[in-house]
Amino acid sequence: MQCITTRFRLGNFLVFIIGFVCLTSIAQADSDNAVILLYHHVSNDTPKSTSISPKLFAEHMAYLDKHHHVMALPDAIEKLKAKEKLPDKSVVITFDDGYANIFDNAHPILKRYNFPYTIFINPDVIDAQRNQLDWEQIHTMQEEGATFANHTLDHVHLLNRNNGEDNALWLERVWRNIEQAEAVIEEKTGESLKYLAYPFGEYNKALAKRLADEGYVGLAQYSGAISSNSDFTALPRFPAAGNYAKLATLKTKLNSLAMPVSSSSISDPEIQGGQLDDTVMVTIRGEDVTLNQLNCFYQGQKIAHQVNKQTFEYQLDSPLPVGRSRVNCTAPSKQFKGRYYWYSQPFFVANDKGRYPD
Ligand SMILES: [Zn+2]
Repeated sequence: MQCITTRFRLGNFLVFIIGFVCLTSIAQADSDNAVILLYHHVSNDTPKSTSISPKLFAEHMAYLDKHHHVMALPDAIEKLKAKEKLPDKSVVITFDDGYANIFDNAHPILKRYNFPYTIFINPDVIDAQRNQLDWEQIHTMQEEGATFANHTLDHVHLLNRNNGEDNALWLERVWRNIEQAEAVIEEKTGESLKYLAYPFGEYNKALAKRLADEGYVGLAQYSGAISSNSDFTALPRFPAAGNYAKLATLKTKLNSLAMPVSSSSISDPEIQGGQLDDTVMVTIRGEDVTLNQLNCFYQGQKIAHQVNKQTFEYQLDSPLPVGRSRVNCTAPSKQFKGRYYWYSQPFFVANDKGRYPD
């Protein structure tokens, strides 16, 4: 944008040339795409699978500072919903669960870079458990660039059904939890973003619809970038902890593009009984996805798929396991060398008592 604010007395021709160059460079920098990172603990002393060391976290931030544009979650969501363009290679930083080590180990680094970020908290345990943030720390972080959003009151498995509970009663019960959490967050922080990060990333069609009806945005835990075409009731985020924290593998994800899905035969990620009998069919739009180089993975294994024009399809041979699983597919972009479109489909299966494991 430097070129626009340059103040020189120039002939018309030169102004035209400079204007053209500026417009071209701005157009190249604009994109309908962002990547959301998901962190939990930033500590050396917490469970490996949900932790990143403070040292590696500092390396992530240094890398983002050099190669990406870090933006606030509300900014990215509002702009994409309004179909406004974002700076190229935009990245959003989020944390789930409100651990105190975010204040101790991550916040000083984020503050140094002036990076905005969002923490999804469980108000029932804030200030109540030793490893959690307290409201005073939350206020300090808020003043220094953080926003706080909803992760339910108590980190409940939202898809768990109680004994004898029908779908209507279930939805009313979990919705009350979400609304109460939102009310506490608004009371304590003065802000109600109406963003819900589903605990364990678990959601279904009925809950997603309720979110949309009530004006909420939902954030999930499967892989992929976001765009104006995304489902705003289940935005994907890349986990950046444990084995996924390695910067070498994270770089590809930071550069990923949202698969432009126009339709999918999966309408509900919660699969009753775990039986996925039909072939899954996914249709994409646009010309930039190199579909003949698509690769699909399930449970760490490559799976077969078929491509027919703008549609790809895959089948799972065995029943889905109880709990969470997902299929990921990637395909290179024609236009952006070295960048990949990501498709991810999560599946959620309850056990025979209607409950979900941690
Ligand atoms: Zn969580």
